[in-house]
Amino acid sequence: MNQYVIETENLTKKYDGPAVVDGLNLHVPAGKIYALLGRNGAGKTTTMKMLLNLVRPTGGRITLFGEASAAFDKKNYYRIGSLIETPSFYENLTAWENLEILARLRGRHRRDEIEHALTAFNLDREKKKRFRDYSLGMKQRLGLAAAIMHEPELLILDEPMNGLDPVGIHEVRSYLLQLCREKGTTIFLSTHILSEIEQLAEVIGVMDQGRLLEETGLQELYRHNRRYVEFEVSDVRRASLVFERLFGISDYAVTGNGTLRLYEQLQRRAEINRGLLTEGITVSGVSVGAGKLEDYFTKLVGGEGIG
Ligand code: ATP
Repeated sequence: MNQYVIETENLTKKYDGPAVVDGLNLHVPAGKIYALLGRNGAGKTTTMKMLLNLVRPTGGRITLFGEASAAFDKKNYYRIGSLIETPSFYENLTAWENLEILARLRGRHRRDEIEHALTAFNLDREKKKRFRDYSLGMKQRLGLAAAIMHEPELLILDEPMNGLDPVGIHEVRSYLLQLCREKGTTIFLSTHILSEIEQLAEVIGVMDQGRLLEETGLQELYRHNRRYVEFEVSDVRRASLVFERLFGISDYAVTGNGTLRLYEQLQRRAEINRGLLTEGITVSGVSVGAGKLEDYFTKLVGGEGIG
């Protein structure tokens, strides 16, 4: 099997003005959770709609499940579960009735699946309530229940945490992780809130103004979030030589005029400080800190940053 469940090549969408999705090359690996992160208007929803054949691309190619086809294959509707924008259901029907209609439309009416979907998103106790009386969070949870009910191989979820309270976010996160771990479901989700995906996604794509700025693994991202010890010194060049030659440290960065950041060397800071002094380098400050993922993203998208 192809290693990617979703792959796009130069995927582009233009309406009247400049491209809102601009030459996107996405690689969503099988059995992983991939988060598309971007500010409002970055083009995330449009991208997802193109993957689902709801919006026609202006250019580029989409490969789903390793099969490049000129037209969207209808059987994908059975293999994919999706939640795009605000979920819509019949207002005067209950959650069960709504899911039942959907299940029949999919040609797969199984009471156990409906029951499971409602229980998974804590809607099993609201059996009599009609959709019109649902809160925003409950509507969102019903949208998620509808997306997972037929046990799809791929989930495409646009802002799945929308409208959920912190407990709801935690529950949905745990459920998605479990789906991925136990069933091998591939999950492609979008968000503009960084903290929502930190304990969830394994791969992250950062999108801004229609472009994919970065596509990277979580481990790589954490490099930007590591703890460090920062030295303020009289001579940066000579201090780097001390780090490398005396202490065998190559994992450091020059972060400013006269400052160097050493990663993962917290316990050795006194020893390193002494080494610098012995070599005649004045140390005017030593501080410990952690790179913030938020700062990294702010730098990446420029200016305002992300949630
Ligand atoms: P949000 O988090 O706010 O939903 P997003 O990243 O999902 O943002 P999109 O909804 O894909 O972004 O919108 C990307 C850009 O495309 C926006 O500037 C939007 O105004 C524009 N856009 C979306 N749909 C249309 C349309 N049907 N006609 C014209 N422009 C559109």
